[in-house]
Amino acid sequence: MHAKQPIALTIAGLDPSGGAGIIADVRTFVHFGARPAAAITSLTFQNSQRVFGAIHESAESLRAQVLPLLEEGRIGALKIGMLPTADLVMEVARLLAETDLPAPVIDPVLQSTSGYELMEKEAVDALVTDLMPWARLLTPNIYEAEVLTDLEIADEAGMREAAAMIRALGVPAVLVKGGHLSQQSEERPEHAIDLLDNEGQVTVISGEWIQSPPVRGTGCMLSSAIAACLAQGISLEESVRAGKDFVTETIRNAARAASVSADAHSAAGN
Ligand code: PLP
Repeated sequence: MHAKQPIALTIAGLDPSGGAGIIADVRTFVHFGARPAAAITSLTFQNSQRVFGAIHESAESLRAQVLPLLEEGRIGALKIGMLPTADLVMEVARLLAETDLPAPVIDPVLQSTSGYELMEKEAVDALVTDLMPWARLLTPNIYEAEVLTDLEIADEAGMREAAAMIRALGVPAVLVKGGHLSQQSEERPEHAIDLLDNEGQVTVISGEWIQSPPVRGTGCMLSSAIAACLAQGISLEESVRAGKDFVTETIRNAARAASVSADAHSAAGN
């Protein structure tokens, strides 16, 4: 690995089971050829089924993790994930103001798939007022976009309206991830739709909908992939497409692995 290779930094939570958070981010950075670095905001206790709890880092601890990295080399990519407390949110905003960290891709992680709250209410408020104005891109899923806008989002028009409202809060670009919308629909959807609003230019990105067991950490992977691609000078839309392709491939692999193990189970006469 070349020492001058730009660093991709994730500021996020540690999921010791490796499905989501920093471990998923680092896996993604490596896939996209970046040199990974990570600063922990929260040590969570979880396995692939549920979250049992978390001990959050302090603002001082986060600062103490990040500052030495700035002496290591240029940080080309910055992804921000779980920020559980308002103190941590405001510390990240201060670090962005004081240093030459790049404008981040922010995944506004509110809850785990199993429903555990990963961000306090005051932290959401601080995210909107203090941190969002620093972002290059915000990547909410439908639930997160609903919390940020107070809208109920049922379709593509709702995603479009939410993206415009979130942009009006001071973010240049918003990617509303429609995957959760597809899961709610009655019949099996053909496409998983994401909507990118880049300074008012809206692009609907349609990907294959793959039936699979739930895959954890897809939001972590997508935002890290986009951050890594942006750092290579790739346009925002192409970075989003590359990230989505990577996540789709990961889901396809999970579906394949699940069907192989189901076949083995029935061949064994179970
Ligand atoms: N744990 C951590 C530390 C995370 O950062 C995230 C999501 O970003 C999650 C859990 C939630 O992941 P999932 O939705 O796959 O449960």
